[in-house]
Amino acid sequence: MGVRPLLLRAVIVGAPGSGKGTVSSRAVKHFALKHLSSGDLLREHMNKRTEIGIIAKTYIDQGRLIPDDIITQLMLSELKTVEQHHLLLDGFPRTVPQAEALEKMFSVNTVIDLDVPFETIQQRLTARWIHPASGRVYNLEFNPPKVPGSDDITGEPLVQRDDDKPETVMKRLKSYEAETKPVLEYYKRKGVLESFSGTETNKIWPHVHHFLQTKLPDVSQKEDATPS
Ligand code: AMP
Repeated sequence: MGVRPLLLRAVIVGAPGSGKGTVSSRAVKHFALKHLSSGDLLREHMNKRTEIGIIAKTYIDQGRLIPDDIITQLMLSELKTVEQHHLLLDGFPRTVPQAEALEKMFSVNTVIDLDVPFETIQQRLTARWIHPASGRVYNLEFNPPKVPGSDDITGEPLVQRDDDKPETVMKRLKSYEAETKPVLEYYKRKGVLESFSGTETNKIWPHVHHFLQTKLPDVSQKEDATPS
């Protein structure tokens, strides 16, 4: 009573296709958290063609990580603007040197690890097909084309992006494992790692929600309440 609650310094970790985006956006809806995504921040810089954006693009286009010193500087200066808030970091830190640099600014006290089996992620990531001329996107699970393999409007063939082809997806997942495992180990040693395992985001989310409720007040009721 009267004690200032500990500020949440959380990091969400999960492979591409693990449901990290969905879980983060739900967390932000339910809790008074600032969500800071390194990927979103880099994309913003690229759209604005800032110096960082131009450098970042050369790495991202090759599917490579941005060098630690560049991304760390960018994220730490961004973090200074939200220091007084509960935080959910997404996409950063991605390497142990980044985690160590972050630790000098503040101590991460919660790491939410979305642990989704490899095969599930591979299925999800390879389910996306596009119609190149229009950019229409289909998902074999959620919004399949009316005729398999053909665009609904033109009937033209659908293709997979290079990024979504099974062999490339496998490469991305392998490199995620290689770069992220040491970060998870780092946080495990610090005793702040919470792993949530499952194959469906809708089943994982209630556990993450419950866990966050033990740390923060759920504010979604207030927001959702219709004014009387
Ligand atoms: P994301 O949207 O998190 O997948 O990020 C998109 C791309 O931005 C990644 O594939 C990396 O090239 C780059 N990136 C984002 N966060 C980091 C980070 N913490 N360290 C290095 N590169 C990053």
